[in-house]
Amino acid sequence: MSTPRKDENMKAIVYQKEGGLTAVSIPRPVPEADQVLVRVVNVGFCGSDHSLVESGQLADGTILGHEVSGVVAGLGRDVTGVAPGDRVIVRPTFCGQCRDCAMGKPQFCQVHRRLIGLGDLPGAFAEYICVFPSMLIPVPDMVDDENAALAEPFAVALHGIRISGRSSGSVLVMGGGPIGLALLKLLVVMGFGPIALSEPKTEKRELASRFGAHAVFDPLAGDLNKEGFLFTGGVGFETVFECSGVPANLQAAAQLSARGGSVCVLSVIFSDAVISPATLTFKEITLCAAYGNTHEENRQCLAWMAEGRLDGRDLITHRIGLEDLPDVYRSQIHTGLAVKVMIGFGEAGACA
Ligand SMILES: [Zn+2]
Ligand SMILES: [Zn+2]
Repeated sequence: MSTPRKDENMKAIVYQKEGGLTAVSIPRPVPEADQVLVRVVNVGFCGSDHSLVESGQLADGTILGHEVSGVVAGLGRDVTGVAPGDRVIVRPTFCGQCRDCAMGKPQFCQVHRRLIGLGDLPGAFAEYICVFPSMLIPVPDMVDDENAALAEPFAVALHGIRISGRSSGSVLVMGGGPIGLALLKLLVVMGFGPIALSEPKTEKRELASRFGAHAVFDPLAGDLNKEGFLFTGGVGFETVFECSGVPANLQAAAQLSARGGSVCVLSVIFSDAVISPATLTFKEITLCAAYGNTHEENRQCLAWMAEGRLDGRDLITHRIGLEDLPDVYRSQIHTGLAVKVMIGFGEAGACA
């Protein structure tokens, strides 16, 4: 395995103000002395990638993509502890010393923060990326490349469960997108129950049933509040996770919460939302929100995958090549038809 020469090109998908996501050929990156070159094997398309494209705030030429698995393909001369051929996933840097890191929240670290696809480093909608060694998490042999690329969305879900402070009991997941469905799978693995999911799209409710939801509700067809209380014997849900991004669901979540329950917001809602403080007070509801995930949570999800307890591959609704992304974005992602689009670049050496 050799480091690509400077004059070699690679395929990438860049954002352009005129035309949106566009397939291009650009020079392969060459790692600096303290960097690692990673050949991308799989990369998932995240809901936040869609939000960023639609925001119109991206600079021309931005390369997105952060749900990545790959193989170390080259090393800067000062890099130690990493070898060509290592299978890895990539997460942001953190310093380990600051207030945020000391609190166990490295996702807030502001010290020389480096991240791919959402921050300062080009993302993985490309054949190669350059990253720093501390960003790499090894992939266990028993975990294949697609599952490895999905460890990050599962880590988002695991982070939400930890923030909720709950370890068992009844749960309502609001929203059957990739995070809601990943969360549902994790809740099953972690022994929560009974679990219900509300989602207006039939296909996503069917997936939820297949993944182990004990009940699925269509919030547009019936009275979700009534159905939720019927399902929980009049008690309400011990934990409600808001994963739909619908502002009105905050108050709906509080109403569906049991006395002493928790409402955890996992979606990112930029608009204002109304929530009745009296609903919170009279039931002593804990309202919390989860942001990002830690390296440790990624390692935990990879470990569960290696043990055969967690498999994310049935979340994948579309397997595509990199050059298909602009078309699939318009027809399947922007229209809300896809759950998880997984881009593949070919062989790596997974055994699953
Ligand atoms: Zn993501
Ligand atoms: Zn820090």
